[in-house]
Amino acid sequence: MYKAPRGTVDILPEEQRYWRFVETSAVSLCRLYGYQRLDTPAFEDAQLFTRSIGQGTDIVTKEMYTFEDRSGNVLALRPEGTAPVCRAYLEHGMDNLPQPVKLYYMAAIFRYERPQAGRYRQHYQFGFEAVGDGDPVLDAEIIEMAWKYFETLGIDGLNLYVNSIGCKACRPRYLEELKRYYASHVQGLCADCKSRFDKNPLRLLDCKQSVCYEVTEAAPKSTDYLCRECLVHFESVVGYLEALEIPFELSHRLVRGLDYYTKTVFEIQPPGEGAQSALGGGGRYDDLIDELGGKPTPAIGFASGMERVVLNLKKRKIAVPEPSVPPVFIAYLGNEAKLEAAKLASTLRRREVPAVLATGDRSLKAQLRQANGLGAGYTAIIGENEVKVGKVTLRNMGTGEQETLAPEALIQLLKEIE
Ligand code: AMP
Repeated sequence: MYKAPRGTVDILPEEQRYWRFVETSAVSLCRLYGYQRLDTPAFEDAQLFTRSIGQGTDIVTKEMYTFEDRSGNVLALRPEGTAPVCRAYLEHGMDNLPQPVKLYYMAAIFRYERPQAGRYRQHYQFGFEAVGDGDPVLDAEIIEMAWKYFETLGIDGLNLYVNSIGCKACRPRYLEELKRYYASHVQGLCADCKSRFDKNPLRLLDCKQSVCYEVTEAAPKSTDYLCRECLVHFESVVGYLEALEIPFELSHRLVRGLDYYTKTVFEIQPPGEGAQSALGGGGRYDDLIDELGGKPTPAIGFASGMERVVLNLKKRKIAVPEPSVPPVFIAYLGNEAKLEAAKLASTLRRREVPAVLATGDRSLKAQLRQANGLGAGYTAIIGENEVKVGKVTLRNMGTGEQETLAPEALIQLLKEIE
């Protein structure tokens, strides 16, 4: 027997209502803030990601699904959503549009991670990006939008952490300080942090291992090393967030896992859960478009894992809209009746009434059981008698009441119910 590959899941019909709820909430949110949808391919030139995400990051060193196609092109399944948006922004000349260009996506993301609850090798992200503007008011708008997304879904009590990790001008000095500080502690750090110390020192800060925690608490803070421009920007973002009454907490440990971030970074987490529980995060990436061959273009974005949102909705028992069930099941007895039943089903659908036609030659009892299983409100029954008189018996599945109707009257009645 085949199984879904490790780290992947099937989203079964009974779970779809959670997904539709998340999607429709996301679409309404984007409409409210003026973001337009962009869909990009599931795979891209692998270099798009290695250049943007950064050579020292976990995603590039350990997690990318990279492959060579039959023409020798080196491609990678999308391990994150921002770089493809920037690639499309440049490819389609969106830099000529009025800026910022506001885009959103819902897409499958592929990372070869160690699977566990809420962490998969294929997961879906809802993300939005505002490209082409460096105004701190936009940072506040994106953060507010992310916050509002969870509010709309009914997921409350979350923590919002904000930090600034500076820019090309001020970060080197900060990294130097950070390395100087960690140099005397490196022996006591976890194995991952020992290698991060050389490869990606910023990531030392968000290690969740208890052996590293205390060391990190006392580490130098990036916000103490910001250049004038980054400091003004950061203070301005904080000011806007306060004015918008967004409840955030400054966290010097928050750095995010991708290299392209500059200035503002933020993350939203449920209380009391570890790092793997982040419901979403984002930040500014003012150098990314430049890095990908465009002119210097500031931008900011956010992405949230949809599986984790669904898990939270379920855990919190948040009511989501019930799926619509077909209002009518069509049962028959005998071959002649089966032909009439098939014709009735076809007519109903032509008149926009969803209908499910029985199959096979089961007893009426078995057919009614199937109708119940589907949650149908009514069953239209055609037996020998009905065929003779050209009518249909309609059974209300809730009350068990039955009445015999002409097909047109039945269609009218079902149309009203629909
Ligand atoms: P990232 O691009 O790593 O910042 O991820 C953005 C969001 O996607 C995270 O905050 C999570 O909600 C979600 N996410 C990231 N990686 C995974 C994964 N492997 N499985 C499920 N959700 C994930």
